[in-house]
Amino acid sequence: MSATATLAHEAAPAPAFAPSQRIRAIGVSEILRITDHANALRRAGRPVIVLGAGEPDFETPEHIRAAATRAIARGETRYTVLDGSNEMKTAVRHKFQRDNALDYALDEISVSAGAKQVIFNALMASLEPGDEVILPAPYWTSYADIVRICGGVPVVLPCSEARGFRLDAGQLDAAITPRTRWVFLNSPSNPSGTAYSAAQLRPLTEVLLRHPQVWLLADDIYEHILYDGLAFATPAAVEPGLRERTLTVNGVSKAYAMTGWRIGYGAGPRDLIAAMAVVQSQSTSCPSSVSQAAAIEALTGSQALIGARRADFEARRDVVVEALNAIRGLHCRRPEGAFYTYASCAGVLGRSTRRGMRLQTDADFCRYLLEDFEVAVVPGSVFGLAPYFRISYATSMAQLQEACARISAACAALE
Ligand code: PMP
Repeated sequence: MSATATLAHEAAPAPAFAPSQRIRAIGVSEILRITDHANALRRAGRPVIVLGAGEPDFETPEHIRAAATRAIARGETRYTVLDGSNEMKTAVRHKFQRDNALDYALDEISVSAGAKQVIFNALMASLEPGDEVILPAPYWTSYADIVRICGGVPVVLPCSEARGFRLDAGQLDAAITPRTRWVFLNSPSNPSGTAYSAAQLRPLTEVLLRHPQVWLLADDIYEHILYDGLAFATPAAVEPGLRERTLTVNGVSKAYAMTGWRIGYGAGPRDLIAAMAVVQSQSTSCPSSVSQAAAIEALTGSQALIGARRADFEARRDVVVEALNAIRGLHCRRPEGAFYTYASCAGVLGRSTRRGMRLQTDADFCRYLLEDFEVAVVPGSVFGLAPYFRISYATSMAQLQEACARISAACAALE
């Protein structure tokens, strides 16, 4: 090659970066986009109340933080077993025995950097291109995106408010095809707050018993945020016949205010767990050793704070639901758990703002609330069921009352 050819080659501009097709199909999380926008308005000096975040507003309890400090002092700063140390898995094992009457051996348990990674590992380890995953809507948005990243196809089943946003057994049965690999159930639910009792789960587990090729992913992350004295139920315990094809997912993020520590776990058949460990071994290797020490304390130490936090959340739920239902044009079902309300805004659609914008979708309504009344909430279209909006009430009572007053003023100002 001549010297001039080499120079010409070196001077050629590098082609622009192009994300893979897999990533192009996904896009940035709408919830993060709204939260970023709201935070940018705050930085610009506007008093925006952000009700978007899905994390508890209190600190990780002191005894849990102290366990992490002790682990650092002891030098527990190295890689652990790939999918969780034996101590961590033993803590998870006892948690399932104590809270859920489920018995798992250590090799039926997987620990990851959050419940989100558990779900990611499970789908990465099991989906073939084109496999279908049934998502009852409204659903946590990440489910659909993780399914797509892993080459699967989300099959969204709308669950009406009239049925409490619960999946109907006939609807599930009709949606199952030879390509169905997984059905997801999330109780209490993000975003609707709906929980299933054991009796409400049973018709669904009966359908699944008739379809042996279908696996069940039970996302129990909001287990401890359940109100009105309701008893928590999880499918693998309700129907032991499904245990051999159920992955029960949980974590410490929500119950112990540990979102930043990144520890989640799953329990299921050992072949699935082993395949998930392969995925993890080539991505994050193992969850943080220090966070595992903290999570062990969370799961095995005093559980007293859970009840206190639940009472706080329940009081906030009552205030928000009552305030929303007092607003003409809005309607809010009383959720059983989690820290979200999912209110219908159907009654305000078609009306116009003072600035002349006609509200046509729940996204329009949410944009109006943010731009004109400085409250950030998330439109139901993001969760696969419109027209609704989600409020996260994991914030102070004073902020919630102010936010509801602004939403009320926003609706009253519509023409
Ligand atoms: N499942 C649901 C339904 C969630 O809302 C969340 C967090 N927003 C997660 C799983 C993930 O939790 P983490 O990864 O923090 O354990």
